[in-house]
Amino acid sequence: MNKFCQSCGMPLEKHQGTETDGTLSNEYCEMCYRDGQFIEPNITFDQMLKRGIDGLNNSQRNLFSKKFMIWGYPYQLKKLARWR
Ligand SMILES: [Zn+2]
Repeated sequence: MNKFCQSCGMPLEKHQGTETDGTLSNEYCEMCYRDGQFIEPNITFDQMLKRGIDGLNNSQRNLFSKKFMIWGYPYQLKKLARWR
């Protein structure tokens, strides 16, 4: 199983999406993928990037770790299966 969602880069553990037969996906999280399909099949790389950064900004982390993660997020996202 992948450690991170291959669409948005968030940790997969306890947040796996579902396949058409109801089993848990080993690739994508519940926010990206449900019943064997992407929830938003037409989302672009830039839209996903913005969403991830907004999510990090709104998270409860300290400022330093937020800045560090926001800095690294575009590089992480580019490596994921969905965006390669
Ligand atoms: Zn995801």
